[in-house]
Amino acid sequence: MNYSVNDYQPNMDVLDSTIKDQIIDRYEDLKDKKVTKADVLASLEKDQLNEEDYFNLLSDAGLDLLDQMGALAKKRRGQYFGNNVCLFSPIYIANYCNNSCRYCGFRAKSPIQRAKLTEEEIELEMKSLSESGIEDVLILTGESQEFSSIDYITSSVEIAKKYFTSIGLEVYPANVEDYKKLHKAGADYVTVFQESYNKEAYDFYHPFGHKRSWVYRVETQERALMAGMRGVGFGALFGLADPVEDAFKLAYHASLIQKKYPHGEIAISLPRIRPTQGADNTLNFNYVSDKKFFQILLAIRIYLPFASITLSTRESKDFRDLAVQYGATKISASVDTSIGHRSKETKDSGDEQFAINDTRTTEDAVKDLLNLGMTPVYTDYLRL
Ligand code: SF4
Repeated sequence: MNYSVNDYQPNMDVLDSTIKDQIIDRYEDLKDKKVTKADVLASLEKDQLNEEDYFNLLSDAGLDLLDQMGALAKKRRGQYFGNNVCLFSPIYIANYCNNSCRYCGFRAKSPIQRAKLTEEEIELEMKSLSESGIEDVLILTGESQEFSSIDYITSSVEIAKKYFTSIGLEVYPANVEDYKKLHKAGADYVTVFQESYNKEAYDFYHPFGHKRSWVYRVETQERALMAGMRGVGFGALFGLADPVEDAFKLAYHASLIQKKYPHGEIAISLPRIRPTQGADNTLNFNYVSDKKFFQILLAIRIYLPFASITLSTRESKDFRDLAVQYGATKISASVDTSIGHRSKETKDSGDEQFAINDTRTTEDAVKDLLNLGMTPVYTDYLRL
């Protein structure tokens, strides 16, 4: 059966939630608005911005007012987060995947080296990472329920609990009962990138597999919070569709979830598309300039001042150094997107998911943050 992006596939939880429709409807209301500089300046005067103000900040008129936006973003960052920058590191434990995202080197049938770590190897990798000082780990797999079952991920969470104070998951979207199991094992937060909120782009880039269901994916954060997770992460892969549309829907989605689940910690990730081995090289990406990307970062910081914003090592050191001063509050360090390369004793190894742009170790990232006058934070969480 050929499912559409609007279909729930067999065994997917269906929620009684209107959030996915609200995201689309609000953008449709606003998308043709001609925003002026006066509109942007008026929005910057407000203490609390609504979604129309946020749309104003994302406009071309806003692009000419980056100094004013930067000043307010920096102020909000200081009010809500001080100079703190949280550090985390990802661990890729498997790269088998049944989806076929055209932009990704891990996609099914891509002739890359596949690997899946055993429990012993996961322990070696985690021990090795924890020795760098990292306390917040993000466990990643490709999206294969067959090779990376919920039981396998649960075991990796139980191992991670021995070495880290905060455990995040970036694995395939799961049902509420599976998230309950993972949370009980020790998982604290779940991050799932929507990749693109534009359904036409989503349809093109995700031709088959579990991930083809846009509707199931967009409800992931609700399912994770319903299961008791402490926090949820949202993301769009900038470069797949119109960046303003994706930025608008991404942060509006997060704000709707925050209103419905006020106890949930909200985090936004801002990845841009990067070259990768095994991706479809005929694609014409909608690359986002540094200036536009920085505007999006500032706009989100102003609109959602309480939300954590993560910048990955897809971005350069220079861009991340600037971004942490104005809006980003969490960065990764000691990153290796391949499988099993941290510990010399790990036998199984697999290819990297994407080429990283900032190769700093945790130690170097900490030194650089201190030089910028920022405060590196290994953990802001106590497990009792
Ligand atoms: S982006 Fe994720 S789901 Fe898509 S092919 Fe890559 S690993 Fe699989």
